[in-house]
Amino acid sequence: MDNKKQLQLLTQQIKDCTRCDLYRSASHSVAGEGNPNAKIVFIGEAPGRREDLLGRPFVGHAGKYLDLLLEKTGLSRQDIFITNMVKHRPPENRDPLPNEIAACNVWLEKQLSAISPKIIVTLGKWSLSYYLPTKKISEIHGQPFKQGNVVVMPMYHPAAALRNSNLARELENDFVKNKELLQNPDTATQISSSLERDGQESLF
Ligand code: SF4
Repeated sequence: MDNKKQLQLLTQQIKDCTRCDLYRSASHSVAGEGNPNAKIVFIGEAPGRREDLLGRPFVGHAGKYLDLLLEKTGLSRQDIFITNMVKHRPPENRDPLPNEIAACNVWLEKQLSAISPKIIVTLGKWSLSYYLPTKKISEIHGQPFKQGNVVVMPMYHPAAALRNSNLARELENDFVKNKELLQNPDTATQISSSLERDGQESLF
């Protein structure tokens, strides 16, 4: 089965998922969308109000801001795949709970397995903690790390940046700083492993 069909099947399975209680209060599942052959996958936290209404990821203000950042980097939504840690909106926009993230990981892993990206951009603390649980986003944002066969690139969440101009500046700088790598994701496989941080290999 090709990537596109695998992702379509996963989208259907996510729609029918009852692995945690989040589906009960959500209007729609938001599996994710984008290029099934993308070399870069962006992972946010959870669908927001507009995403829940439309069943699509990053379609509100934060999504528009992300589109601008991608544009500045020479990318578009057609180049990437974008999804969230949990696929149904938590009630009242609360943070997803650890048990909900744990229940939903199976879908994220299947999506990543189907796409096989070179780079995973984590947006915000929840997706960062999935890959680097001991790290704080304030300390390592913008610093890509090799993890297995992929490079994980931690970034602030665009929604957080919209609420805080300092974070917005940091987020924009991180896109600029990593522009070359984001434009050439195949080069992620050639990363030198000479520097290490807590067992992760750093680009710098
Ligand atoms: S949030 Fe994830 S695990 Fe929970 S019901 Fe939705 S798809 Fe299933």
